Amino acid sequence: MQTPQRYKGTTYNTAFPTTGNREISDLPRKNVILTPDGIPIMPSGFLPGLFINLNIYRMNRLKMMMLAFLSAGIALPSHSQQPVPPVPVDPDIRIGKLENGLTYYIRHNEEPKERASFYIIQNVGAILEEDNQNGLAHFLEHMAFNGTLHFPGKGIINTLEKHGVAFGRNINAYTSTDQTVYNLSDVPVTHPGLIDTCLLVLHDWSDFLLLTDEEIDLERGVISEEWRTRRNANFRMQKKIYPVLFRDSKYAERDVIGDLEVIKNFKPETLRKFYEDWYRTDLQAIAVVGDINVDEVEGKIKALFGAIPAEVNPPARLYAEIPPHKETLFALATDPEATQYGISLYIKHPGTAPDDKNLMYYRDQIGNLLFNSIMRDRIAELLQKGQPPFVAGNISYGRLTGKYNVMAIAGSAHPGRTGEALRSIYTEALRVKRHGITPSELDRAKSNLLTRTETRWKQKDKIENDQYLDDIVNHFLTNEPLTSIDFDWEALQQLLPTISAEELSAKANQWIADENRVIIVMGPEGDEVKLINEQEALAILKEVEAAEIEPYAEEEVASTLIEKELKGSPVVATRTLPGMNATEWTLGNNAKVVYRFAGFQKDNVLLRAVSPGGSSLYPPAMLASAMMLSDFTGNFGVGSFDAITLKKMLTGKNVTLNQGITELYESFTGNSTPKDFETLLQLLYLQFEEPRFDKEAYDALSSRYLAMVTNLAKNPQQIMSDSLQKILSGYSPRTKLLTPALFGEMSLEQMEKIYRDRFADAGDFTFFIVGNIDEATVKPMIEKYIGSLTDSPRTEQWIDNKVGMPDGKTVKEIPIPLETEKATVSVVFNSEIPWNPNTNMAMNVVRDVLRLRYTEEIREKEGGTYGVRVAAQNEKYPRNEKTLQMGFDTDPAKAAHLKSILYREAEKLAQKGPTPEDLDKVVKNILKDREQAKPNNNYWMMVLSEYYRNGVNLDLASNYEDILQNMTAREVRKFAKKFFAKADVADVVFKPLKAEADGAVPAK
Ligand SMILES: [Zn+2]
Repeated sequence: MQTPQRYKGTTYNTAFPTTGNREISDLPRKNVILTPDGIPIMPSGFLPGLFINLNIYRMNRLKMMMLAFLSAGIALPSHSQQPVPPVPVDPDIRIGKLENGLTYYIRHNEEPKERASFYIIQNVGAILEEDNQNGLAHFLEHMAFNGTLHFPGKGIINTLEKHGVAFGRNINAYTSTDQTVYNLSDVPVTHPGLIDTCLLVLHDWSDFLLLTDEEIDLERGVISEEWRTRRNANFRMQKKIYPVLFRDSKYAERDVIGDLEVIKNFKPETLRKFYEDWYRTDLQAIAVVGDINVDEVEGKIKALFGAIPAEVNPPARLYAEIPPHKETLFALATDPEATQYGISLYIKHPGTAPDDKNLMYYRDQIGNLLFNSIMRDRIAELLQKGQPPFVAGNISYGRLTGKYNVMAIAGSAHPGRTGEALRSIYTEALRVKRHGITPSELDRAKSNLLTRTETRWKQKDKIENDQYLDDIVNHFLTNEPLTSIDFDWEALQQLLPTISAEELSAKANQWIADENRVIIVMGPEGDEVKLINEQEALAILKEVEAAEIEPYAEEEVASTLIEKELKGSPVVATRTLPGMNATEWTLGNNAKVVYRFAGFQKDNVLLRAVSPGGSSLYPPAMLASAMMLSDFTGNFGVGSFDAITLKKMLTGKNVTLNQGITELYESFTGNSTPKDFETLLQLLYLQFEEPRFDKEAYDALSSRYLAMVTNLAKNPQQIMSDSLQKILSGYSPRTKLLTPALFGEMSLEQMEKIYRDRFADAGDFTFFIVGNIDEATVKPMIEKYIGSLTDSPRTEQWIDNKVGMPDGKTVKEIPIPLETEKATVSVVFNSEIPWNPNTNMAMNVVRDVLRLRYTEEIREKEGGTYGVRVAAQNEKYPRNEKTLQMGFDTDPAKAAHLKSILYREAEKLAQKGPTPEDLDKVVKNILKDREQAKPNNNYWMMVLSEYYRNGVNLDLASNYEDILQNMTAREVRKFAKKFFAKADVADVVFKPLKAEADGAVPAK
């Protein structure tokens, strides 16, 4: 079954992963320290809802017991004399092995249509490096894109980009301690010859890298910059933790990015030796999944890869051991830029050997999923109802790295309360160790697991190529199961009843052991007095172990969301929307409902409700409450049910509903299965008519937020993001930053006032419903629930508060305290240009052409950065404006020169326009994405919402494809010229404060 969500752990990509249009005032990325296989050492979720931990399993491909085994009616024998059968492989996946030891996997799949993904999976990683190669596994991965036998220079990227396959997004690779995987994704295979081209690329990666001295030297700069970009507080703390967590193991010594001295100075032969030793057919797999002919591709693979000779007497591929230990180890990691206080207790266990991953193993994996989900709920309940000394917590069992598992017991503490947090989270662990889980907890977890698996199964035709490939990667590397979703769904139904609370309780008891334990304490440097030391930590464990702990208790919950009879109101007007296959209904209470059937995702219905107004209507003194409201609403519950009760009531149902307030609009966004759509409408009804403002939940969540935000001021990302936000908004009092002061400005009373005001008038909302639900079913439900919402006589519009960039050019150089010498350059252009499909498309083309230019000029030619971010925004409201933002990290000494290239290339584009090659690459890529986006329910939600907001039908080719296909270099030039000529500019460079201080005191 299904492995934990595919954390690749500490991985390093070749290309800067582009994230599309990033918000200008993006919050700092959540940064979780990961062990090699991806378990967070400290849960440092920035927002409670974003907290990542290892028990976020991907439910979509739950792999189960063999069906035949089950249908024979045999309960799973735990002490059977019979050997446990192996796990059946998805019959639609062709697996083979060539004489030279190379494995291949091929599967036909049509999501997306006319596309395929091509992977080479190498059972090779940083763990195989000698000390003089520290960092070279990853360096080698970069070199795969810098010259091969059939694709010299930048040939691979250049060839594929001509077909719209973009570097970074579609072409990429990653390296971690035990694996290196390259992918060419979403390749349009209808183009003749492109399958052969991709296979040839994989072939060259397998054994034919050129590794020239010149290209190696050029890449040293890029990787040094990647090293700089990644060197943050979590990275530095990880360097202190690994030697303890992985004591006496090679995992303690390899961090993948490696040693900067090695990166800058290694001899080319050293890299070539690593390549020759480890990139070889017996450690490689080729995998192709997509809209292809399996026999044909198999023939091509045999011919092309069969000719590669097997290595003679290759070195053995060994797996690093982690030696066991009786005593409890302790690691303290601090950093000046750390923003959180963390405590963890890790208990290491041997994992299952690849050869033993049989049906019993798969059943065990289901048990782990259920256990982790139960513990997640218990911790959520603590956080919701009480005020525990931790702001986020995690108790879960899963994979650590290589062949090891871990029981992770971790908490992110309130500032300075590390001792209490350890006591509290460890008490929860011992509660489950001693008393186990309850049958009703287990029933809820099973019910939720079934529902989610059923949805995946019903939507099996929407499983994407790259999802299959993730499973294939795990099957090849560690023999994880590779079953079909049909099998999984059938088996899950039969298997769940065989898993009992007693069985899982006994496992938990065994997982929470007293050997192989490691305590980890993390926090800001200089605050050591607030961090527990080794003696204190050990004493706390002893104290909890000696204490009496009560079993977990829970109350009965109600079963009906809405008790009273709803009157509803009928549809009074119907209008069809030409060209969109949609219907607009007006109900008796003035609510407008726009409905469109869409069955692309079969087990899915989308809901959206939107009304103008937003936070624009409030004075600055109320904005803190408005800004934080959406984060709190979900924790308040609804009607007479608190959030925990509500969650229990929704067991086994697939519904989500989120409330949002932006500057101009208030909204609800939700989705459900067709079966649970009525429940979704009930929740929507209650959110409008019976919202709940829960003081206990407000206090609990505010104090968690405050704890998380308190030390953010030390985080360079946060400092930069805040400064930029202030500059870009002209220091408007309406700009609210996430600081401790914000929490003094907001209140539950204000939140309630704003909420009740925003959602007082359903008659001012437009509701959108898109999904696999027919009109006859949906219409009476709408009349009943949406038709019962309160209409009020007011008509509202948002107002323009005139917040925007200062006129002209603003240039700033801002020194900030930084541990790693790094400059961050950010340049923003903002122009008033009318919003329409033509100018929007021209803006997007300019963005993508510049991405190509900057990658070539600043990354490849100058070796000056790991990647340049370029984002564009097209806005119509509150006023017509377009924004282009670009930025990168670099060596402070190079910042001024590299920044001038940002301008130089923009200027070149405005004067000469794009080259035909660049324009062609960009247009093909946007068209390819568009084609893939269309057959999806959410595409229609986007089209309809945009139509109601901006009055343009973006589904029409004349508003999209035609514009792109007819776009000439001359038009792009004209647009760029106009855009840059009238733009206001913010030009901001953040640089290390320390460099200046050092300069003031002459160094000897
Ligand atoms: Zn990299």
